[in-house]
Amino acid sequence: MKKVNEAIQLGDAIDPKHEIEVVCAACGHDVDEAELGADTCSDCGEALNLRQHTKIYATSIPAAGGSTLS
Ligand SMILES: [Zn+2]
Repeated sequence: MKKVNEAIQLGDAIDPKHEIEVVCAACGHDVDEAELGADTCSDCGEALNLRQHTKIYATSIPAAGGSTLS
């Protein structure tokens, strides 16, 4: 399962756009949203432990209005 979160402005900081991929820790099977609550992996049959891969998108975000680059 891949989930893309859009960039969010958090006060002075920006949480950049990023993608979270949820996979089985044992075999790397891409875990569906429907499978998140399962006890075992549908692919390898091991007890389901989730592992998340986070990928940050390298796109630059325009500065919010008014601020200047220093
Ligand atoms: Zn698995």
